[in-house]
Amino acid sequence: MTDREFVRHKVAEGRPASGALLAASVSLPAVAVFLFTMGGPPTRGWVPQAQDASPSVRESVSTVHDKSDTDAEAAGRSPTRPSRTNHAVQAEHLTDNPTADSNAASDIAEKTEPVVRSVSSVETVVGHSVEERPIVCRRIGDGEYVVLMMASIHGNEAAGTPLLNDLAEHVVANPELLDGVTLVLMPVVNPDGVESGKRYNARGVDLNRNFPAENRQNSSRYGLNALSEPEALAIYQVINDTLPNHIVTLHEPLQCVDYDGPAKELAKVMSDHCPLPVKKLGSRPGSLGSYAGVTLGIPTITFELPRNAAGQSPKFLWRFYGEALIKAILYRRSECE
Ligand SMILES: [Zn+2]
Repeated sequence: MTDREFVRHKVAEGRPASGALLAASVSLPAVAVFLFTMGGPPTRGWVPQAQDASPSVRESVSTVHDKSDTDAEAAGRSPTRPSRTNHAVQAEHLTDNPTADSNAASDIAEKTEPVVRSVSSVETVVGHSVEERPIVCRRIGDGEYVVLMMASIHGNEAAGTPLLNDLAEHVVANPELLDGVTLVLMPVVNPDGVESGKRYNARGVDLNRNFPAENRQNSSRYGLNALSEPEALAIYQVINDTLPNHIVTLHEPLQCVDYDGPAKELAKVMSDHCPLPVKKLGSRPGSLGSYAGVTLGIPTITFELPRNAAGQSPKFLWRFYGEALIKAILYRRSECE
């Protein structure tokens, strides 16, 4: 633990001066045209619900104020979206009071600002790749129920990264989604593979075969031993540190919701809110699903986007798959599974 380099940013929501927030919003191209002509995924009768899954990222960031709704919390009310608050009521009262002093107008202007709850966001460098690229982990919220999501463990399957960036912006703009939840995001766990456009890390190891699962196989392709690769070690440490209640990893191109461990119910919930069917692909040796899902017993979803996902715009991807990710945040495992 002592060799880990921590770069911590306490980010108050809606403060675009945050490097992480800025980087995330800059990375989202302002593409206004849906690329339906490129050929979308099969819909299976599922239709995207724009009101739930529209990110409106830039608008969301600009409308969220960096104030916490402490008054609402103290009053026992649900501190959620911008609303008429005690401040607003107080301001109306002042308006009707002829004895209000000359500062009343400016007080009113200040106090009638919409007040929303903020959610904590902490970005940490949890390791470095073989080629020394940082592996970033972002924790949003501080609830007891922990949901871990990661993307780009295979470098040539990077469509999940903009999806997770959109998800981060969406929950920051809608903090009520994180009631009782800590969302842990690792948008790029194989940065060298993304850079080279290859499945493997810079040493040619498949990171999704490098975990200490019971079915692990040692080889040059899977790593000569478990956790031989710094990227897999970073993921392993995040799992140990955060103890997630469930895990979602984003891949391509098998076009299904696969699962390991006690995650059949969660897979069904996600499948019901996107165009991907549930399909059990079978546990791969030393995979994250085998380790986290089977060995540790953590419900683990392998969310396989279709082959053409890499060619789609972030907005298109969010429209089709964002809702399933939101449902995964809201999901609570039932006792019976
Ligand atoms: Zn993959």
